[in-house]
Amino acid sequence: MTEPVGRRDTLQALIKHGRLLLAIPLTQVFSSRLYTSFVHAATERPKGEDMKQDSSLDTLDPYRLPRHVVPLRYDLRLETDLTAATFAGQETITLMVHQPTPELVLNAIELEITSAQIEGDSDPARQGTIALDATLQRCHLTFSRPLSPGTWRLTMTFCGRLNDKLRGFYRSTYKDERGATHSMAATQFEATDARRAFPCWDEPDFKAVFASTLVIDPTLTAVSNTKIAAETLEGGKKVVRFADTIKMSTYLVAFIVGRIEPTEPVMVGQTPIRLWAVPGKRHLARFGQDIASASLSFFESYYGIPYPGDKLDLLAIPDFASGAMENLGAITYRETALLVDQQSATHSELERVADVVAHENAHMWFGDLVTMSWWNGLWLNEAFATFMEMLAVDAWKPEWKRWDGFGVSRAAAFSVDGLRSTRPIEYPVQAPKEAEAMFDVLTYEKGASVLRMLEQHIGPRVFRDGVRDYLHAHAYGNADTNDLWISLGKIAKQPVPELMNGWIFQPGFPLMTATVSPSSELTIRQQRFSYLNHKRSGPSQEQRWQIPLQMRITAGGKTSTSRMLLTEKDATIPLPNDWESILLNEGGHGFYRVHYAPDLLTRILNAGFDRLAVTERFNLINDAWATTVAGLMPLTDYLDLTARFTTERDKNVWAVLLDSFSFLNRIITVEDRPALEAFVRGRVGPAVADLGWAPRSGESEGTKQLRGELIGAQGKLGNDPTIQRRAAELYRAYRNDATAVDPNVVPSLVAILAHTGDATRYDEFNERFRTAATPQEERRYLFSLAAFQPKALLERTLARTISREIRTQDAPFLVSAILGNVEGRELAWAFVKTNWEKMEQLFPKQGLRRMCGGIAALVTPELERDVLAFFTSRKIDLGGKTLEQYLEQLRIAVAFRERELRGIQAALNH
Ligand SMILES: [Zn+2]
Repeated sequence: MTEPVGRRDTLQALIKHGRLLLAIPLTQVFSSRLYTSFVHAATERPKGEDMKQDSSLDTLDPYRLPRHVVPLRYDLRLETDLTAATFAGQETITLMVHQPTPELVLNAIELEITSAQIEGDSDPARQGTIALDATLQRCHLTFSRPLSPGTWRLTMTFCGRLNDKLRGFYRSTYKDERGATHSMAATQFEATDARRAFPCWDEPDFKAVFASTLVIDPTLTAVSNTKIAAETLEGGKKVVRFADTIKMSTYLVAFIVGRIEPTEPVMVGQTPIRLWAVPGKRHLARFGQDIASASLSFFESYYGIPYPGDKLDLLAIPDFASGAMENLGAITYRETALLVDQQSATHSELERVADVVAHENAHMWFGDLVTMSWWNGLWLNEAFATFMEMLAVDAWKPEWKRWDGFGVSRAAAFSVDGLRSTRPIEYPVQAPKEAEAMFDVLTYEKGASVLRMLEQHIGPRVFRDGVRDYLHAHAYGNADTNDLWISLGKIAKQPVPELMNGWIFQPGFPLMTATVSPSSELTIRQQRFSYLNHKRSGPSQEQRWQIPLQMRITAGGKTSTSRMLLTEKDATIPLPNDWESILLNEGGHGFYRVHYAPDLLTRILNAGFDRLAVTERFNLINDAWATTVAGLMPLTDYLDLTARFTTERDKNVWAVLLDSFSFLNRIITVEDRPALEAFVRGRVGPAVADLGWAPRSGESEGTKQLRGELIGAQGKLGNDPTIQRRAAELYRAYRNDATAVDPNVVPSLVAILAHTGDATRYDEFNERFRTAATPQEERRYLFSLAAFQPKALLERTLARTISREIRTQDAPFLVSAILGNVEGRELAWAFVKTNWEKMEQLFPKQGLRRMCGGIAALVTPELERDVLAFFTSRKIDLGGKTLEQYLEQLRIAVAFRERELRGIQAALNH
């Protein structure tokens, strides 16, 4: 699956809420001793094949099904009625019974099961008694005589509603060009919602073959995981029978029914690739189809295994809770992640589509062909797909320098993993709610970051060969983390499990502190990073990692690189007497922060930024900011450091700087605002003046994007009246002629005009939202409605989030955006409190969870107390450690405010 908002959006949201920025100096450690023993019981879990025989599991975990009955094949027939929003189903599941059993236990929820009958090869059909357990989402079928070991066929009939919660089998609606509303039906089964569409063994290691038939209105179209095997008309209905799937998990099954239209297929080898959209949007499919075919062919060659399906359809669904879903052969997307107009889109909007399409294609092997045994291993799917999406997009458009942008993803992971309430990448999961909470930056971004670190450590070819070995060994089956390490270790001829377990099974990451003694000895010390109480001792301070450390040392005018694996608490290395500077985390791939002693930092700065790669500059400023938030670096030092970046022209490095300024904007009082605005103008102004308003010939896409972002910052955070006037002029020109302004600048114009806008502008942007020509434009104008300052306008936006006027896939994010607006946050918080029940009932679970992330922007002690009281008194559980993390992020921001507020004017004027 892909997150509902883009990674850049995630970053900006984090920033808005002051959650990102915390960069930190590090400590480092190392030693010559390579492998300390880190043993983790979690790697010892039995593998899927073994578990199927192991009925003891169900006594341990009420959410796991007994393993002595295993489904082999589902013959499934579903008849949909879009008008009534219902479906009726019949299925025959072929089962292998391993032990005599009087009862079958499988998953079902919100289904009415009307009959269940079983027959064996030599046993005539008999009816079962049906009992549903809504708490555990199970169906118990009992029979008069026990079923003996062997093959059985279970036939069930059932019916259900096409819900509006964007999960299971659900209804999506859209308006056609004449304004008439139409319905369609789509599925979203990951993590545990296939059981809402048909009774099934809904766990990832119960892999089976699916043979699906959809019975639909003859004017509609149906798409599923495989090619259509036959299509007939029966009793006025269209009956579409699909070919058998490969052996796969239930969460990958998909059905889409509606008035949808495909592109012409593009062939990659034997695989036809088509994009689908509701009528009127097919012309936005070209870019997505290009990256779909480029990445599919990239992965076939990288993995050394042909695409495992018989066709590949990518479908844009108007209502969609996440970003996209990797159903084998029928990948579903929210429209902004698939459909785009190349002429009018910004670089980041194109990059978003490229990333998500490549990500989902990567899953066809990593996730679909080989699947994690259980949800605790979700990172195997998601971290890999995130890592592979970077590789594929980088290969497709090297000029985009995609790995430079990956620094932003890594930073997002650092921001959560620096919390005391973080969790290990692999984490115990029982209930469905806990599985849902696993879809976070630790699974995706931290997972991908540590894979990148490993790939750089053992070498890209060795890494690729290890991945091939793993996929070959477990194709059509399930695997655990340790299986991956075994393959990688075998090919790398290195103890990969010992190296990686600390990164996967321990929470947090190391801060490496570097100091040099007067006798030119470099000392590096590792210590777990924390934003709060960094110096406090405790068990977390005893944590150790095996850290692949790469350093660049300049001495006597010559530069050399050294690599080592640090396993001890600290290490000391002699430097040449004529050493000039030292850079830790050369290349920037390490998942750790660096804290340099002041003289070391000065030497790096004096050597000049032109000596540093983009990611190294990114890490330098990002670590410095985290250190500042953690109280390890004085705020004045950080603000002085930012003055060194006025000649910086990389968009990613600037993202960190702008983030930190936004964080300060959330902290300060009204009286401090002019000082912050002047400070921002001083930092951003020179770059805006240099870049101008229009692209120069030969300019990179990254620079175009940077221009837009800097103009936006200058106009909003800097509150620069000249920029605001120019933005209004240019927006008028853009409305008359859409080609008059570079697409990358347009979002900033909209943002600035919303920031300074009145009710007339609000109505104008609202109308633009309703009549937008592309999904990106629709989203841009929708979110502009959260960026106005007058409270009456923000109240209008808030009211609409629960009115069904705004899609529930977007509404919670809009609320979160207003929580992040300093003029609207208290209003939005009051609104959330008043309307909590309604939101809980209306919004998709995932959206509600993300919305609550906005509380980190409520940065005063009074609001913090109120937030705590609200969530505590209502006993709200967002799954996993989600709420705990949000509250800690709020605590960090409030603590920072309490520490720095008094001196902030002086620091800004320093
Ligand atoms: Zn994914």
